[in-house]
Amino acid sequence: MELRATLKEKKRIVIKVGTSTVTYAKTGNINLEKLEKFVRVLFNLRNRGKEIIVVSSGAVGIGKNVLGISEKPAGSVKQACAAVGQARLMMIYQKLFSEYNQLAAQILMTKRTVMDNLSRFNALNTFQELLKLGAIPIVNENDTVSTYEMQFGDNDTLSAIVAALIDADLLLLLSDIDGLFTDDPNSNPNAELIHVVEKLDDHLLKMGKSTSTSDVGTGGMASKLTAAKLASAAGTDMVIANGEDFRNIHRVIEGQDCGTLFLSHKKDEFYLMDYLEKML
Ligand code: GLU
Repeated sequence: MELRATLKEKKRIVIKVGTSTVTYAKTGNINLEKLEKFVRVLFNLRNRGKEIIVVSSGAVGIGKNVLGISEKPAGSVKQACAAVGQARLMMIYQKLFSEYNQLAAQILMTKRTVMDNLSRFNALNTFQELLKLGAIPIVNENDTVSTYEMQFGDNDTLSAIVAALIDADLLLLLSDIDGLFTDDPNSNPNAELIHVVEKLDDHLLKMGKSTSTSDVGTGGMASKLTAAKLASAAGTDMVIANGEDFRNIHRVIEGQDCGTLFLSHKKDEFYLMDYLEKML
């Protein structure tokens, strides 16, 4: 509980929402009611003096739906889906933000953005400036141009990179699962939720079987554990919690026992580039 209480003090918070959180699983359409609830929680956190950065998936899934494509998109079709879907996604965010007189800002990144020293520096400056101006950056991978060679691949990894880049205090991954379990809870009813991970060892990393069954999202538990590894090294505590109920965001930030907390262990000699070279 003591450990959890420190979460109340976190100021700069990156919150990642997956495609399954922003759309209806059955139809793939945007879940407006959920998104509205989500942005209200964000504004409340901002009103409490927190700095909020959102990493939002959904571009490919929403675009696929808008274009009436039924199979899993690949190559230039996926890029086209992302181009249509990202615009649609931001349109909805903008609309909801404007109702509450809040500023949304879009940041799209590729692997090149973080691997190149100048563009990484530029991206950092943009984040800092936007936060200073009171905007909420909404980040996604630039799927319209990021083919294999320059792809992060999943937004779990991207959100950890963003958290490390901007020196966030907390990374909150909202998922369709309650947290990290001792086994896959879909197949093993005895699987238990792990409340706190003090140290991410090989045993835990092996437990991260890729569990995503989605057609459009890419993050399974394995990518969440990779994200936890990077976040921990960068000095950012990370929580995986269920995005079905956005009150979980408050629960986590109030220090309640919700989801799985991964404690950070920053090393003095942490260099983001070293990690990126190994990871990407
Ligand atoms: N960037 C992708 C999108 O917005 C999602 C990647 C992921 O699911 O992790 O559709």
